[in-house]
Parts: sequence; structure tokens; C-alpha cells
Amino acid sequence: MSTVEQQVAEESIQVLDHGFVRLDDSMASDLSVVNAARVSFARRKDVMEEADSGLIRFLMRERHGTPFEHNAFRFHIRAPIFVAREWFRHRIGSFNEFSMRYAKATDEFYVPAPEDVRSQVGKPGAYSFEPVTDELAQTTRDELAAVYAAAYAAYERLVELGVARELARAVMPVGAYTEFYWTVNARALMNFVSLRAAETAQREIRRYADAVEQLFAEKMPVTYEAFLASDRTAP
Ligand SMILES: Cc1cc2nc3c(=O)[nH]c(=O)nc-3n(C[C@H](O)[C@H](O)[C@H](O)COP(=O)(O)OP(=O)(O)OC[C@H]3O[C@@H](n4cnc5c(N)ncnc54)[C@H](O)[C@@H]3O)c2cc1C
Repeated sequence: MSTVEQQVAEESIQVLDHGFVRLDDSMASDLSVVNAARVSFARRKDVMEEADSGLIRFLMRERHGTPFEHNAFRFHIRAPIFVAREWFRHRIGSFNEFSMRYAKATDEFYVPAPEDVRSQVGKPGAYSFEPVTDELAQTTRDELAAVYAAAYAAYERLVELGVARELARAVMPVGAYTEFYWTVNARALMNFVSLRAAETAQREIRRYADAVEQLFAEKMPVTYEAFLASDRTAP
């Protein structure tokens, strides 16, 4: 493992079998919310006081959202392509992604843990996801591994034969891992967490949303508590 890879591993929250969420940098504090709101009265504070926590709870409850935008979280994320695809639907934020046009595709693919293999019961919009037998869990894992191996072998053969990476990547399944940077403010982050850490979200992106939520809570604890008190509704 290179020094950079080691640093990434140490700073990351591991998610799924090969993924992670890492807070690369941030400019985020509860005080930024308070000062953004108080500028209306030409006031500014350097230290949070109890009344400021009340102000944050008020802003959250009344859905005065803009004071929650004066901060930034830059995340570095490694996730299967199908998770990234759901993530990129969140338009309020900035993304930059690993390019399979310029770099060789990863040979790491998502194979769910046996307990994460599930069946789908019910109607669209109201599915429940039920555990499967040990045998079906293993069959699923074996089928995925076989497809991934065949796909990656084809990818390598095509690249070896001189086909451009941008075209050879067409054989890559959506279970392949990708990496991206995501910069987002607390308001849009809460919207993401509200939707993607919810029971209705797909289990795999939920695990990532849980990690994002944990890092958010550490940086903006008062805002986070107010978010919980507002039934996890983004302002
Ligand atoms: C459980 C679940 C199932 C889903 N299923 C599907 C699906 O089947 N098909 C599908 O296509 N998508 C699906 N989505 C994606 C979903 O429709 C949203 O695209 C995604 O959740 C991003 O949400 P958002 O627009 O609130 O976030 P962001 O894009 O980050 O926007 C944040 C907020 O900014 C405001 N905003 C942003 N852009 C606009 C705009 N153009 N006009 C007005 N206001 C704007 C809105 O208030 C919005 O809530 C699903 C999402 C979830 C959580």
C-alpha cells in the first residue's frame, strides 16, 4: 500500500466491501449558521452561546434554509457505480469523478455480504426486502463474481488489443467501484441524508449516507441535533 493509500485508509469510514467515505476537508461550523442569520441585524459572534442553539433550532423548524448554506464539506468517496449514479442525482453540490477514459478501470467490484442478499416483496413504492436462504445468498455472490471476472477479462483483452479505454469500459458492470469528490453545503447535505439514509432508500447508498451523516454530526453538532428534532427534514 502506498503512503497516500494508507492515509486514505486511516482517515476513511469503510463502507461495503471496497468502499469508503472520507472527509477530505471542510469549512463547517454551527457558528457559520448563527452568523449568517445574525448579519440581518449587523451582528457577529466568535463563540456559540445557548441562545444560538435556540436560533439554529428556530431556523431549522421554520425552514429558513439559507443560513445553512455558508459552509462546505468536501468528501472523497469510493462506491459502486450504481450507488454513484443515485448520488449524482443530487444537483446541489459539485462532483468530480474518476475517469475510465483516461485511467485503467478498477478491478474491484461489489459483492454483497451474504446477509445483504435480499428478495423483493410487494408492489413498486412499497417493497419490503426479505432475507434469502444461505444457498441463494451464495449463488448470488458466485454469479456476480463470475460476471465480474468475465467482464474484467474482456476489458483487459480489448485494451491489450489496442481498443481505447473509453470504449472498452462499455463492458464494465455497474457493480464496479468508482471514486469521486463531492463538495456540498449543510443544507443540501441534510437533504441528501434525509432521502438517502431513510428506510426507503436502497440499502447500499444508505450505508454511505450513514457515514456522511456521522461526519456531518461531528462538524455541526447543534445543527445536527436540530435536524433530528425536525424529523430529519432539511430546511
Ligand atoms: C427512495 C428514492 C427513490 C428514487 N427513485 C427514483 C426513480 O425511480 N427515478 C428517478 O429518476 N429518480 C429517483 N430518485 C431520485 C430523486 O427523484 C431525486 O432526483 C434525488 O433524490 C435528488 O433529490 P433532490 O432533487 O431533492 O436533491 P438536489 O438535486 O440536491 O436538490 C436539492 C433541492 O434543491 C431544489 N432544487 C434543485 N433543483 C431544482 C429544480 N430544477 N427546480 C426546483 N427546485 C430544485 C429542491 O428543493 C431540491 O429538493 C429517487 C430518490 C430516492 C431517495
